Amino acid sequence: MMNSSTFYFGLSDEQQMIRESVLNLLERILPGQKILSLVQASEFPSEAYAALAAAGWMGLPYPEQHGGSGASFKDLAVLVESLGYHNGQVASAYLTTAVYGGLQILHGGTKAVRDELIPSIINGKKLLAIAMTEPDAGSDLSAIATRAQEHNGDFLLSGQKTYITCAHIADYIVVAAKTSPKLGYKGITLFLVDARSEGVTIRPLKSLGREMVHTNDIFLHNVVVPRERMLGELNSGWANMMRGLNIERMVLAASAVGNCQKIIDYARTYAKERRAFGQQISRFQAIAHKFADMQIMTETARALTYRVADMLDAGLNPIMETCIAKTAATENNIRCADIGLQIMGGAGYMMDYEMQMFYRDARMGPIGGGTSEIMRNVIAKCMDIS
Ligand SMILES: Cc1cc2nc3c(=O)[nH]c(=O)nc-3n(C[C@H](O)[C@H](O)[C@H](O)COP(=O)(O)OP(=O)(O)OC[C@H]3O[C@@H](n4cnc5c(N)ncnc54)[C@H](O)[C@@H]3O)c2cc1C
Repeated sequence: MMNSSTFYFGLSDEQQMIRESVLNLLERILPGQKILSLVQASEFPSEAYAALAAAGWMGLPYPEQHGGSGASFKDLAVLVESLGYHNGQVASAYLTTAVYGGLQILHGGTKAVRDELIPSIINGKKLLAIAMTEPDAGSDLSAIATRAQEHNGDFLLSGQKTYITCAHIADYIVVAAKTSPKLGYKGITLFLVDARSEGVTIRPLKSLGREMVHTNDIFLHNVVVPRERMLGELNSGWANMMRGLNIERMVLAASAVGNCQKIIDYARTYAKERRAFGQQISRFQAIAHKFADMQIMTETARALTYRVADMLDAGLNPIMETCIAKTAATENNIRCADIGLQIMGGAGYMMDYEMQMFYRDARMGPIGGGTSEIMRNVIAKCMDIS
């Protein structure tokens, strides 16, 4: 990553330390060639995950009373940017448990559930997934059909979820289900489902990229979920999902920013070594301008993302700004991956290099956590133009 003083502008000493230590740790434990092997074998990056937990990074977003470090949203953005710089899939592995699933437990779990699970999230022993999307309900989450019916004081869950990241290795899955279907989106509740419960079937899906964390179908058939494993109040699922999705969009932006920077640095190393017509290809203005374009896109997305983190830290609820940051960062990530691949010529297209993986993985950004179209709908709605 770039190492100039301007690059660190606005970061505290601690935040600079977060960046340095996370990058050093991951480079040591999970170098690029090892990532490519895991991707080829579709294996979860367990060693890197355990190392991140051992170094205390899983606890970053949790309050000190739960054994975490009580960090700010800006700290989280810095951490996730660094994870995304090293590898977007590693960022996803981290986020699925520590942020998407784990923060639902922090905010909605009973004291007993929090006391039981948060320590094992922080020490890396328990992994989570979050299951909202269904075959007939993606962008329109109010249309989910998974049903949770009260039964002898507990709940019985039945339905199907799809595209669920990390479900195949999760110990617990946060599942959104309809508790009062007649109330539409107001009738949704989140539940903490033990992935090994009777009636849970998980089937991995094949996708364009992200093989280390890949996605899964989940089939739920009369799965018994104890009432104490309800997250939040009955029918509070929509508000809980939206709060979670806003944080998810901020960290997806941060991860994409890191990945944009990685693509620049990766392509730069190549362009300084590769020679054509008797000189380094980086000396061609056509190539140099591509680097400038990538840096403009990266800096823009970074500024937007950190601004959102600052707003969250100030106690604001930046819906529009988060959607803008997520859209800009993830769309710029695709453009940077495309340009980076072009800079590398044929090598960019080869599986021996990481660039093809950046290109494939970046394509998910404007889909997950709310598509770019939905982001633009929300932005326009916030602008009060209709
Ligand atoms: C790699 C990957 C990982 C994922 N991980 C998870 C996960 O862990 N947990 C989870 O719950 N979900 C996960 N998802 C699901 C993801 O959140 C959904 O794919 C996404 O919300 C879009 O839903 P959909 O795929 O059903 O598309 P649809 O909702 O079917 O949309 C199809 C197209 O129509 C557009 N569209 C839909 N409605 C509108 C509208 N009102 N205005 C304009 N355009 C519209 C969309 O933008 C899109 O272009 C993951 C998806 C992927 C690809």
